[in-house]
Amino acid sequence: MAVKDKVIVITGASSGIGEATAKLVAKNGAKVVLGARREARLQEIVSDIEADGGQAAYSVTDVRNPDEVQALVDLAKSKFGGLDVIFNNAGIMPNSPISELKTKDWNDMVDINLKGVLNGVAAVMPTFTSQKSGQIITTSSVAGIKSFAGSGVYGATKFAVRNLMEVIRMESAQEGTNIRTVSLYPAAINTELLGSITDKKVADNMGAFYKQVGITPDAVARVVNFAIDQPESVNVNEFTIYPTKQA
Ligand code: NDP
Repeated sequence: MAVKDKVIVITGASSGIGEATAKLVAKNGAKVVLGARREARLQEIVSDIEADGGQAAYSVTDVRNPDEVQALVDLAKSKFGGLDVIFNNAGIMPNSPISELKTKDWNDMVDINLKGVLNGVAAVMPTFTSQKSGQIITTSSVAGIKSFAGSGVYGATKFAVRNLMEVIRMESAQEGTNIRTVSLYPAAINTELLGSITDKKVADNMGAFYKQVGITPDAVARVVNFAIDQPESVNVNEFTIYPTKQA
């Protein structure tokens, strides 16, 4: 079974990587269910997909709220009659040096980038286990495979979800439930992500860097599409996505 006709839930679908992925997989025949907090953006993206001949629905979702994540997943099942993939993509990146003690940013990153992914996993696991099939794709980061100064807590959340995806893959193989997991490690992708940075100096520096090297989010969307397109017996589980210009 390829991308066509799969039911795919995407968090963080209101902009950037999530939006680009929703549009690409819908164009390839998937039924997509979009979650994020900004309803007007979700409505617009669903309209764009439908105007292009695709099938889509949305539910306003804060990934910090397990009930809202469950409602998003349940919408996929009620509207499109099944559930094949969850793309845990919602995230924020308010980077800063640890010495600044921006503890609100730290907690927000843990709540969204880590606990938000756990909420997604919990929402799909009973269905995937009972149907003995399903794919969990999560946007980690290059900051989830190597350390960067300024990225202490962001990197901690992204290393954590990488571990989570790998352990789900191993346990599923042991338990015979065929749940496939994919970790994505994008580098500089031009999206709205830098808008979450609260330290002006960090925002300015990263803004200049992204302007120089960043690539568009459809680069990541194509990788997600490729991973979903694989046969059931194949788990392509880790991808780094670098701009050619980024060292
Ligand atoms: P965007 O800022 O464009 O997208 C982030 C998405 O996450 C938005 O749809 C936003 O929607 C959503 N989001 C944020 N907080 C919440 C929340 N509490 N509940 C639900 N949705 C939320 O940036 P990207 O597309 O770049 O980010 C997508 C993922 O990619 C993130 O996990 C990010 O860490 C990761 N990433 C990005 C890289 C880059 O260079 N851009 C590099 C490596 C990883 P809304 O505000 O409407 O809720």
